[in-house]
Amino acid sequence: MAVFHKVKELLFKDVAGENQLSDLSVLIRMLCLVNFFFNFILTIFFATSLHSALYRWSIAFSITYLLILWMTYWGNASGTVFVYSAAMLFTMIAYSFALGPTAGFQFSLYSLILLFCYKTDDSPAIKYVVSFIISVAIVGIWVYLTIADKVVEFSHSQDISIVLTDTLYLSVTFVTIANFYYLKFASSEHKIVKYAKKLEKLATMDPLTQLTNRRGMMDHLDRYIKDSNSEGTLALALSDIDFFKRINDTYGHDAGDYVLVELGKMFNDFMKDKGRIARWGGEEFLFAFENNNGDYAYEQLSKLKYQIEKTTFKFKDFTFYVTMTFGLEEFDDSIGIQKTIEHADSKLYQGKAEGRNRIIY
Ligand code: GH3
Ligand code: MG
Ligand code: MG
Repeated sequence: MAVFHKVKELLFKDVAGENQLSDLSVLIRMLCLVNFFFNFILTIFFATSLHSALYRWSIAFSITYLLILWMTYWGNASGTVFVYSAAMLFTMIAYSFALGPTAGFQFSLYSLILLFCYKTDDSPAIKYVVSFIISVAIVGIWVYLTIADKVVEFSHSQDISIVLTDTLYLSVTFVTIANFYYLKFASSEHKIVKYAKKLEKLATMDPLTQLTNRRGMMDHLDRYIKDSNSEGTLALALSDIDFFKRINDTYGHDAGDYVLVELGKMFNDFMKDKGRIARWGGEEFLFAFENNNGDYAYEQLSKLKYQIEKTTFKFKDFTFYVTMTFGLEEFDDSIGIQKTIEHADSKLYQGKAEGRNRIIY
C-alpha cells in the first residue's frame, strides 16, 4: 500500500515550470507506464515464443518510455507530447514492419489523435492536420505492408496472442486518455459549482456580521411561505439599536461595528432553533420566528431584550450598554411578506416614539 501511494505521488507530482500544464504531464507519465509494460510483455513474448532478436528492440523501447517519463518532471509538457508521439510513431512502425499489418500495431497510432485533441493549447486546425498525418501514416503502413514481406514469421496462435496483446494495450491507452478527458471536465464542473456557491453566498450574506442580508432573507422567506403554505405560522420582528449614532459619535465607528458584530453573534445563537435572523440594513435586524405565532415570538423577544440590556460591551477602554426596540407582526397571508414587514416597521417606529427599549406587538 505504501509503495502504491509513493508511485501515485510520483505520478501526480507537479511539473517544474509554473506555466506548464500539469495534467498533460501526468497523462504522458501514465501513457509512458502503459507503453513500458506493453513493451515489457512483448520482450518476454518475443524472447520466449518467437525466439526473435526483436526482443532487443522491445527492451530499447521500454527504456525509451522510461526516459520520456523522466523527461516530464523537468521538460515542457507540450514538448514531451511531441517526443512521446515521435517515440510511438517509431515503435509502432518498427513493430508493424517486423510483424506485418495483421498484428494491427499501426492502429495504436489512433490514440495519438485523442492525445493531441486533449492538448488544448493547439488550434483546431493543428489538431486536424495532426489527425490527418496520423491517419495517412496508418493507411500508408498498411498499404505498404500488404505488398512487403514480414520480417518475422509466426504461427496462427502466435498471431492471435499478438493481436490480443495489442488490443489490450489499445484499450488501456484509450481508457487512460478518456479518463483524463473526464477528469478535466469534472474538475471544471466542480470549479463552476464552487464559484457559483461562493457568488451566491457573497450576494446573500452581510460581510460585517456574517448574517444573511436583506436579499438572502427575502429569498428565504419567499421559499418558506411557498413550502409551508399556511397562515399564522410565521412571526416577523423588525428591530433597531437605540441611539446607535451616539455610540459611533462617542466611541468611534469601529466601536459601532464591534457592537453590530457582537449582537450578530448573539442573535445567531438565539435564533438557531427558532428560525432566521438577518441584518436588514444599517443597525436594523429582522427576526423570523418560524412555525410559531406572535405570542411565542413576543415571549422570546422579551428574553432577548433583557439579555441585550444586561450585556456589557467592552471596546478598547470603553464600557457601555445598548438597548433595542422591536416591532413585532404575525405573518398575514392575505397581505403578504412585504406588507407584514411594513406593519412591523410601523410598530418599531411607534416603539421609538414611545421611548425605545421595548417590543410593540
Ligand atoms: P434611534 O434610536 O432612533 O434608532 O437612533 P439612532 O441613532 O440609532 O438612529 P439613526 O438612524 O439616526 O442612526 C443610525 C446610525 O447607524 C447612523 C449610521 O452611521 C450608523 N450605521 C449604519 N450602519 C453602520 C455600520 O455598519 N457601522 C457603524 N459603525 N455604524 C453604522
Ligand atoms: Mg435605524
Ligand atoms: Mg437606531
